[in-house]
Amino acid sequence: MHTLTPLQRIMTAIELKEPDYVPVVPQMTYTTAQITGITFEDAMHSAEKMADALVAGYRAIGYDGVYVGWESSFNLVAEAMGCTLWVPPEGIPTVSQRVVNEPSDLGKIRVADPESDGRLPVHLRAIELVRKEVGGDTPLFRYVPGPFTLASLLRGQEKFLLDLFRNPDLVRSILKPATESSKRFAVASVERGANVVVLADPLASTSVISPKIFDEFAFPYAKEVVTAISDAGGVPSLHICGMTSPILRRMAATGARIVELDYLVDLQTAKEEIGRSVCIEGNVKPTRTLSSGRPQDVEMEARECIRKAAPGGGFILSSGCELPLNTPLENVRALVLAAKKYGRYHT
Ligand SMILES: [Zn+2]
Repeated sequence: MHTLTPLQRIMTAIELKEPDYVPVVPQMTYTTAQITGITFEDAMHSAEKMADALVAGYRAIGYDGVYVGWESSFNLVAEAMGCTLWVPPEGIPTVSQRVVNEPSDLGKIRVADPESDGRLPVHLRAIELVRKEVGGDTPLFRYVPGPFTLASLLRGQEKFLLDLFRNPDLVRSILKPATESSKRFAVASVERGANVVVLADPLASTSVISPKIFDEFAFPYAKEVVTAISDAGGVPSLHICGMTSPILRRMAATGARIVELDYLVDLQTAKEEIGRSVCIEGNVKPTRTLSSGRPQDVEMEARECIRKAAPGGGFILSSGCELPLNTPLENVRALVLAAKKYGRYHT
């Protein structure tokens, strides 16, 4: 018999202790569109349709927390700061028009107001609606953009990566309003009912930049947002896609209480390096296993994650990153079942 609520189960893991079983939260947002029969685009402008799909996924599969969101938070906030998005048919939007095409465009950046800019109000409303439906015993997770990734979208990724070397002052000038926008959206998300605010900073991965660049241009700004989340009463989580093994300790040093790891990082190494100071979340392969594999593949890989990272507590079973649009629901169900089958702490 399960004696803990999902919120208690997650909070026990965050406190680096052992709950009744390993909590499991797939990073599933727009993947739930298939349940209510809508397209990705249907929910972009509708908090109601977004919340309906997210709640339907939660009820159909029964995981321990809901990621309230729909598309990449960095595109969403970039749009609110003045970028234009392109929405491909049946696909995920990307930024098509930047704000800082030339260094002289710096003044065109506006700090996003989450209550009025772009579609941020739609996403804040979705948090309220999901909270109303699932009640207070289920934790809500909300992605916000890492300043490093957000700043790269305002400038254009290629130019931004070159600027790190040829014009670092310009980079810092873009990072400042990016950090401020991310902070405001994070704090507003906590105020609307998000328990865990996840700073997603994929470009800050060591698949892209060196640990030295991370320390100078990603770490301090991420830390600032993490501190704002804590001060607002939320639990900060840090999500960096791709390879992060060389910066695990730095990720924990931001003050994040959860570190979300992609499948390239070995959970056993991570557990040894940072498992005593921060809760680890991950890391079944989102594309190869959860989207393209069979339920038994998911079960085997989830079992391996649990074996490596669950002992002693402080672990949340999840996908390594956000689930692709067409992920079969039976595979997500297999992930949840694996936590209950192999993740029991006390029999
Ligand atoms: Zn990711």
